[in-house]
Order: sequence, then structure tokens, then C-alpha cells
Amino acid sequence: MKTIEQIAAELQGYDPQALSADRVNEFLARLVEPVTTTEDVSVFDALDRALAADVVSPISVPPHDNSAMDGFAFDSALLQSGQPLKLRVAGTAFAGKAWSGTLQADQCLKIMTGAIMPAALDTVVPLEFVKVEGDVVEIPPGVVKAGDNRRLLGEDLMAGQPALRKGQTLGPAALGLIASLGLPKVTVFRRIKVAYFSTGDEILTLGEPIREGAVFDSNRYTVFGLLKRMGVDVVDMGVVRDEPELLEAAFRSAAQQADAIITSGGVSMGEADHTKAMMKQLGDVAFWRIAMRPGRPMAVGRITEDGKSSLLFGLPGNPVAVMVTFLAFVRPALQRLMGGTVTAPVLLQAKCLEQLRKKPGRTEYQRGIVSKGADGSLTVRITGNQGSGVLSSMVEANGLIVLHHSQGNVAVGDAVDVMMFSGVV
Ligand code: AMP
Ligand code: MG
Repeated sequence: MKTIEQIAAELQGYDPQALSADRVNEFLARLVEPVTTTEDVSVFDALDRALAADVVSPISVPPHDNSAMDGFAFDSALLQSGQPLKLRVAGTAFAGKAWSGTLQADQCLKIMTGAIMPAALDTVVPLEFVKVEGDVVEIPPGVVKAGDNRRLLGEDLMAGQPALRKGQTLGPAALGLIASLGLPKVTVFRRIKVAYFSTGDEILTLGEPIREGAVFDSNRYTVFGLLKRMGVDVVDMGVVRDEPELLEAAFRSAAQQADAIITSGGVSMGEADHTKAMMKQLGDVAFWRIAMRPGRPMAVGRITEDGKSSLLFGLPGNPVAVMVTFLAFVRPALQRLMGGTVTAPVLLQAKCLEQLRKKPGRTEYQRGIVSKGADGSLTVRITGNQGSGVLSSMVEANGLIVLHHSQGNVAVGDAVDVMMFSGVV
């Protein structure tokens, strides 16, 4: 396990006082060591877990050539260009059982979607394209060509081929794919546990009476939601007051229980509180100023308790900064910790409807509302106030406009990258 100092020495031009967002992720990639314990779980329990081994298909899917349509299966060698083709119907093949009759040269087979295609037949003409008179089917010229509407054995997956790769985080489609292979269980990495607490004497827990200068704790809930969406176990430790004994107890307890600890608040420059001091005292921690907006200050490292070490992410206090730093840094780091392959979010390009001021030399995230313009292309405008405490704008937004490190001002009509908040599957 590398220390903060060792990692810092490995990274060219590492400056904790002006770290680019990319550098932060490079640093974290070196700091985070994936869990190694694996377990076999049922398909239902595998959602959001990272695969610990390739899933090799034990069977071919589909297991035989079959029809993609309800129609008539025939031998395409009989097709003559420009000529209608008349064939007698030898019988009907239903899905789920093989048709066992024999076919003469001028015969076809009525066939249902999913039914096995007899070896001699290679093409299916859909019902709606043919004329049927008694037991004779007439296929007009030009409606099908050889091989149409036939699904081939193994066209989805071939027996013996890897269907899913180690490190893949399993979503709904992957669950279905595993089941389609007939596999009731799958080997995944163990679930990770992440402890969270909010710090700051001005932070109220829900239910506490309102007092002057105090604000309700919102970070606890946004972080909870972000962690749940990743499928990790969450240890909620509430709000910890700014007293050394309470902070020490919280950090020690978190390090004992969890693979990672996330805190918010108390890491900015002017802090007069004990959070930073306690992180320094109990762990191997770096304190950074990141070239980004929002979310400049952040602490990262490890806290070890009883020989067990936990990753530490000391996020800034401002509610929007918490969400942005989570998405930019904590999420990929936790993906790695879970044994997953780190996937960068897919950025969409949208035409910016507003002029945005942006200084090169830092990454900025602006809350955006993406919609479809009159011509069908994507456009984005920003929510009003971009203050890092304005959480309502995160609710209003459906994505973050990412203004990259070296990018400058944005003019009306320029294309910008947007990280959308949600996908469908
Ligand atoms: P700090 O990083 O501790 O200087 O906090 C920056 C700002 O975020 C301050 O205005 C805090 O009141 C606010 N803040 C810190 N923690 C929370 C929290 N858990 N919920 C809501 N606001 C917070
Ligand atoms: Mg504070």
C-alpha cells in the first residue's frame, strides 16, 4: 500500500495547492486498492455488483436457428428474380418444440416466431407478405431475400465465449444476459461499506430546533442518495460536532467498520475547527486545493484503526460542492474500490444558449438544463444562481455542463459537454 508521500513523488508536477481535476483522479487511481474478496450471489442479488471473473457462456444463445417472424419458412434457392413463388404448406412449427415432419422440394413450413428452423430451410417470409389459398402460399417477387428473418444459432452468444468481462458493473441488461445463459449464480466482489458524517457546529440534525446561524444538514442526505445509487452499504453516522473527542471517536469507529469514510465540511483554508487536525492526527492525509469550481478544498488519504485501513474523502461543506466532488472523484474511486472497471461518464454535446465566463486553468461544473431545440438538436441553458450552496439548482438541473481545464469563455451557440444526471438502464 503506497503512502500519500510515495504517490505524490510518482506524479509529475504534483502541486497540492493547485491540482487539476485529472491529476486528482490519477492520484486516486494509485491510492485506491480494489477489494479482493469474492462471493457467489444469485442473479437477483448481483445488481450493481462488479464481476470478479469473466462469465463464459456455457451454451449458445439462441441454441438453434429460429424464425424471427410469424410466417412461412422456405428454401431461398427456389426464389427466381421477378417471379412469384408458389409453395405447398407441409405443416406448422410452433415455438418451444421441434417440427418433426419431412419436406418435399416444393414445400414450405408455416412457422411461428422463435420456432426452430428445419436445416433445409433458410428464409422466412412474414405472413403479411403472402397470399394463401388452401394449402398453397404465393410469395410475391421482391418481398424477401435469402436469409431474411432467420436468427442464427449463437448470434447473441456462442458457447465458450466470454459473455461479460471481469470488472463489469452489472446493470439490468447484464442480469438478463446472465440468466439467458442458464446461470443461477455469478461471482462478484464483496459489497463495500462506506461511512459518512457531516461536520460543523452550525449544522442541525433533522428534528433539532432551528437556531440563529445554523442550517439543516443536507449533505448527509445527498451523499446517502449518491452512495445508494452505487449499490454500496451505507453507514450513516449523522452530524459530528466540532470537538476533538467526538471527531476522534467518529473517525475511529468509521475506520473500524467501513472500507471508505466520507465527511463533509471543515477542510477549507480558513477553518478554525478540529476536523483537519484530527484527520492529520489519525491518518495519512493530503489536503488539496483543486483547480475546479465548485469544490476547491478536499482532503484525501487513509485512516488506520486496529490495523484496518479505510480510505478517507474529506469533501468541502457546500452542498453543491459535495455533489460535484463526489461525481468527479469519489464515484470513480469507489468504483475502483468495488473491483469495478472505472467508466467515465458519457458526455453529451449540447448547444449552449448562454454566454458563459470561464477562466482557462480550472475545471468548472455549471448546473445545466438540457432540452431539445426546435430543430431536434440538444440545447443547454444554466440554472440561475451558480453559488456552491444553492442546492435547489441541482434539483432544477438535469446535468452538469463540464467546462474543461484549458477551456475559455463560451459564446452563445458554442457546443459544450454535459454530464447527464441519469441514464435509463
Ligand atoms: P465548510 O467547508 O465547513 O467551510 O462549509 C462551507 C459551507 O457549507 C458553510 O456555509 C456550511 O454551513 C455549509 N455546510 C457544511 N456542511 C453542511 C451540511 N452538512 N449541510 C448543509 N450545509 C453544510
Ligand atoms: Mg465549517
